[in-house]
Amino acid sequence: MKSSLSLVIPVYNEEENLDELVDRCVAACDALGRPYEVVLVDDGSRDASRERIEAKARQFGGRVKGVFLNRNYGQHNAVICGLGHADGATVVTLDADLQNPPEEIGRLMAKVDEGYDVVGTVRVNRQDSLLRRLPSLLINRMVMSATGVMMHDYGCMLRAYDRRVVDAILECRERSTFVPVLANSFACRTTEIDVHHDERKAGTSKYGLFRLLNLMFDLMTSMTTAPLRMLTYAGGALSLCGIAFGAFLLAMRLLLGSEWAAQGIFTLFAVVFVLLGVQLVAMGLLGEFIGRIHIDVRQRPRYFVERIVGATGVRLTWSPEDAADEVLEHQAT
Ligand code: UDP
Ligand code: MG
Repeated sequence: MKSSLSLVIPVYNEEENLDELVDRCVAACDALGRPYEVVLVDDGSRDASRERIEAKARQFGGRVKGVFLNRNYGQHNAVICGLGHADGATVVTLDADLQNPPEEIGRLMAKVDEGYDVVGTVRVNRQDSLLRRLPSLLINRMVMSATGVMMHDYGCMLRAYDRRVVDAILECRERSTFVPVLANSFACRTTEIDVHHDERKAGTSKYGLFRLLNLMFDLMTSMTTAPLRMLTYAGGALSLCGIAFGAFLLAMRLLLGSEWAAQGIFTLFAVVFVLLGVQLVAMGLLGEFIGRIHIDVRQRPRYFVERIVGATGVRLTWSPEDAADEVLEHQAT
């Protein structure tokens, strides 16, 4: 039998979309001929989403599961919660607003069956306003330059993750996170496919300007502590410039005399530059400590084992004495 599949869908005030969403997901998964479950995580909705989820869970007993959070925790936390309640060998995440057509899941699973452990998607005909696309463009650029990784559309949540990657994500203890980026840090073989992107069926986007900004900071701090180090570098450079400027002033004063120095105004500049630079370096050093604290409290797994070769699975029976005996026997003959 083919390996099992869990769909994880975060839901926040999506009452008008839920019926169609679940029906289409169930139909798409039925067509795949593998065991599956649909996990809907209600992220503290204030409309009738919960009742809709309960009704659907009754209708498709066993195949649809609802997990209700007591308040709104944000999309990515809801997804992580869903990952924790998913049992499938593969987990596919998607949005509840039907912008990601559930019918594409089959194509994702085909890639998973080929052996990829993270399958991303690129929205070929993205149906969002320019104002919503611009920040995404920025985010994608940022991730690409910070991680050097290979994916072009981190915003699209229609993604498939292998169980091992899901388990590694669940081991991370951080609060503010960005699931696709986290997943990529544990991936061994990734690929992307083009998918169709529809307009939101009903309701409005949950991301206003400030939530997007927030997301951007979450993303940046979950990827890198490089901006902290930039402080040290900038401060060092500024100090060096100040010292060079001071030396230049001194040389000119010796060559051309004291009236050239404009009563020491420029000397003051040189001193200020040096001091400013020293301050920045000091802040950068503080930043290095904070960055390490930040990395430690996240408690991400230190490493991710891709595979082990040469393991037999039986208990170790070989001992150094055996090896010594072997040598002696060898010498005796
Ligand atoms: N969502 C959520 N909690 C939130 C905000 C959003 O669970 O606090 C869900 C939302 O119901 C949807 C998905 O996350 O299923 C993506 O949200 P949305 O469509 O508003 O984002 P956009 O498509 O504009 O990126
Ligand atoms: Mg959407």
